[in-house]
Amino acid sequence: MMIVKLIIVVLLVWTGFWFLKKFRKPDACIDQNSSVNKMLACSVCKVHIPENEAIIQNNKVYCSKEHLE
Ligand SMILES: [Zn+2]
Repeated sequence: MMIVKLIIVVLLVWTGFWFLKKFRKPDACIDQNSSVNKMLACSVCKVHIPENEAIIQNNKVYCSKEHLE
């Protein structure tokens, strides 16, 4: 019954990723302040960060100093 085991493993991994995504992006509750905190996407890793936390250089958005380089 290898297939059943495989399906269980895939389901577990998928659920894990789903939880990770949920915890990393709590954007639903910040949405009301969207006019105050505009979300910008990092041009390196595409992670969305609030405008006041973003590093903007040469019209490009970076989430951290590491991605600035
Ligand atoms: Zn980045």
